[in-house]
Amino acid sequence: MTGTMLAIVKERPERGASLVRVDIPAIADDEVLVKIDYASICGTDVHIYLWNEWAQNRIKTPHIMGHEFSGHVVETGRSVRGFKEGDFVSSETHIYCGHCYQCLTGHSEVCQNLQILGVDRAGAFAEYIAVPERVLWKNDPLIPAAWASIQEPMGNALDTVNAESVAGKTVLITGAGPIGMLAVGIAKAFGATQLFVSDLSQYRLDIAKRMGADTVLSPLRDDVEAVVREQTHGVGVDVVLEMSGSEKAIHQGLAALTPGGRMSLLGLPDQPVTLDLTNEVIFKEIRVYGVTGRKIFPTWETVSRLLASRLVDPTPAITHQLKFEDWQTGMDAMVAGTSGKVVLQIAGR
Ligand SMILES: [Zn+2]
Ligand SMILES: [Zn+2]
Repeated sequence: MTGTMLAIVKERPERGASLVRVDIPAIADDEVLVKIDYASICGTDVHIYLWNEWAQNRIKTPHIMGHEFSGHVVETGRSVRGFKEGDFVSSETHIYCGHCYQCLTGHSEVCQNLQILGVDRAGAFAEYIAVPERVLWKNDPLIPAAWASIQEPMGNALDTVNAESVAGKTVLITGAGPIGMLAVGIAKAFGATQLFVSDLSQYRLDIAKRMGADTVLSPLRDDVEAVVREQTHGVGVDVVLEMSGSEKAIHQGLAALTPGGRMSLLGLPDQPVTLDLTNEVIFKEIRVYGVTGRKIFPTWETVSRLLASRLVDPTPAITHQLKFEDWQTGMDAMVAGTSGKVVLQIAGR
């Protein structure tokens, strides 16, 4: 397809971005052109927008941001076999090579030759995107298009929750940002019996509550460890899901975690963290999991079923649904931390 489209472009290596007209991308033989219905803003997009140190080292301008989306196929490359025009799709954002050690041993989410959509190639804050067929995902038509655009971050939440089963377990989620909020609904759906959430922001705690949290705690006014202990008969929680990247929260989580428990780490600290491994981890026999990306595609299958069945209703976590032109409002809310998922309506607005 030829012509032009609207896209949010990081034009220069500095803070900011602009909604401008650019060419519709051309597709390679193994790619599909998707007309985007909805795209949602991720923390990664905020980093690119703010132009932090990571973005300065990784992003080449001009660059189209965004990677979480849903849309419809409008064109397929010559070698594409699994998709046709009109298919309702989203995309895994980790474009794996398929032949390195990790890809061959079931860990394509940490492929050695990973390319990330909207980071290493043109992204989804645009009317059209070109995506390789191997990372494209056919959406269940029972899933509303706005919800379908948040399956990617929901996948991060799912893999963090399910590194081990939470069925019948007590769980503490430290950090109720957009992914933490989604993790609340997922942990409940998978059978967590008592769910604590801690965050500094009351706004986020209120959403966590609406997503199903039993007890919400602010480290500004509550002694997280003491409350968790008191409400778990002195035992502490079985599972901690760390979603804040805060060193303080990591220590609080480990303190509230029962010996023999499990901690999954998804939040990214921006500095090295100091742990007393002997006392906080080893003597307590804590199992620690690092989580990045999602299992491709088992995670997508599960997330899709959770949404299609309404077993998880993400409505409270989708705090903003805005027209494409109003993207700045959504980006400002993300920067200020006064949002859950911000979803932009791109087609049919
Ligand atoms: Zn994302
Ligand atoms: Zn690979």
